[in-house]
Amino acid sequence: MKKKYDLIVIGSGPAGEKAAVKAAYFGKEVALIEREHSFGGTEVITGTLPSKTLKETALFLSGKYEKGLFGIERKLEKEASIEAFMYRKNLISKEESSEVFENLKRHHVDLYKGTATFKDANTVIIEKQEIEADYIIIATGSHPFHPENIPFDGKRIHDSDSILTIEKIPESLCILGAGVIGCEYATIFATMGTKVTLINNQSDILSHIDREVTNELLAEMKENNIDILFNESVEKIDVVENGPLNIHLKSQKTVQSNQFLITIGRVGNTSFLNLKNAGIEVDQRGRIPVNQEYCTKTPNIFAVGDVIGFPSLASTSMEQGRVAVAQIFQTEDLKALPQMLPYGLYTIPEVGMVGMTEQEAEEKKIPHLSGKCSYGNLPRGKILGTKNGFLKIVFHKENLSILGIHIIGPLATELIHYGMELVENQRDLYYLIGRIFNYPTLHDLYKYAAYDGLSVLKGRKIKL
Ligand SMILES: Cc1cc2nc3c(=O)[nH]c(=O)nc-3n(C[C@H](O)[C@H](O)[C@H](O)COP(=O)(O)OP(=O)(O)OC[C@H]3O[C@@H](n4cnc5c(N)ncnc54)[C@H](O)[C@@H]3O)c2cc1C
Repeated sequence: MKKKYDLIVIGSGPAGEKAAVKAAYFGKEVALIEREHSFGGTEVITGTLPSKTLKETALFLSGKYEKGLFGIERKLEKEASIEAFMYRKNLISKEESSEVFENLKRHHVDLYKGTATFKDANTVIIEKQEIEADYIIIATGSHPFHPENIPFDGKRIHDSDSILTIEKIPESLCILGAGVIGCEYATIFATMGTKVTLINNQSDILSHIDREVTNELLAEMKENNIDILFNESVEKIDVVENGPLNIHLKSQKTVQSNQFLITIGRVGNTSFLNLKNAGIEVDQRGRIPVNQEYCTKTPNIFAVGDVIGFPSLASTSMEQGRVAVAQIFQTEDLKALPQMLPYGLYTIPEVGMVGMTEQEAEEKKIPHLSGKCSYGNLPRGKILGTKNGFLKIVFHKENLSILGIHIIGPLATELIHYGMELVENQRDLYYLIGRIFNYPTLHDLYKYAAYDGLSVLKGRKIKL
């Protein structure tokens, strides 16, 4: 006899895990299906946590921390360091994958191993077994997009999954795509001593980020020996057996590189699901259309996380999972995602932003000004050996309310959350100036950026 559940969740990434656990917490009978051997999805195995761990490892192994703190230059041993480079990444993935498994078990979620396909809107087949539920949540995530003209082989021509299997740190790496993942890996490998070329098909990078921040990031990349080719794309790649790859560009230039990495978007994991049997269609990138409650065209089937597309973040995917469950079972805790999202880029240096950029304020014709404070001007910044980087406040010129916060520098992805409170609650510069922070801390960046904003307003800008 078919086992019947209140809810079936397909996929154990952040969206699926949180959805399953929340429904089980509210007393529902829940099944979760995962096709991979390890639990946790892209977040744990190939994406978020691995790349963030590699960033910290690169900073440590390259001696960048010590250089900032004590002026010590430590030489990086490329040949010997691949095991060291991957060691913590492997450890964190393993630990976090078991944590996802344990969390599901703790909440008495029934686990099924295998690839799920739909038989109909209430029935899912896993290998030869069928299970049934009143509701189904699709949280199957996404995989890297492979353009036809790139002969991907996972050995020298990589995507963001296979780059984690390299056997030595490449002498040179050419990256196609200067989005978040491309920029993060560019700065990680450059820090490890790899000669990086970043190919970008536009005239700027990361257009949703404040211009002053991206300019600073570009300057840091240049200092780190990263070549960025703007308005450029790859026509074809010649794979030479015992020599470097010849990468032919649209401009007729050729770049030579030992390894190649493609980071130009992702495709929804929907091809194995037999969605037609459930009455669901997907777009040309395999993504499932949903409404604001994350419900698909079929009323008892919901979809969350990367499989529905933007913003495709672990942070938002887990909340979408929770919101879908709240909508399905009408729990009174969380019925929608908050409007305001913080963004974090784990480049070296890190970037954090929330709210409006100056460009956006201009487009919306909001009278605005900005105030800035550099890490290097604060005692805590000096103690950390940070010379570059800043926090910028964009504020309303008339009522002084804080419209946006933009940070580039160490711990920017952590510091930004205080900025989120300020923007969400429409605090003004005087509120910020009236706070007392522990001393010395990087939170003083906020306070002195606010003072700077006031001096800009009053035309008495003091050079810090
Ligand atoms: C290199 C990289 C860096 C990133 N960095 C960040 C970051 O810093 N911060 C951030 O917030 N986000 C980051 N992300 C994005 C983040 O990883 C994803 O947004 C998030 O993992 C999506 O979660 P998900 O649950 O929707 O899907 P996934 O995590 O992809 O999980 C989907 C799961 O479903 C399983 N599955 C698929 N099809 C089936 C099937 N038919 N049957 C059974 N199981 C199936 C898969 O095996 C997988 O385990 C990064 C991504 C990448 C690639």
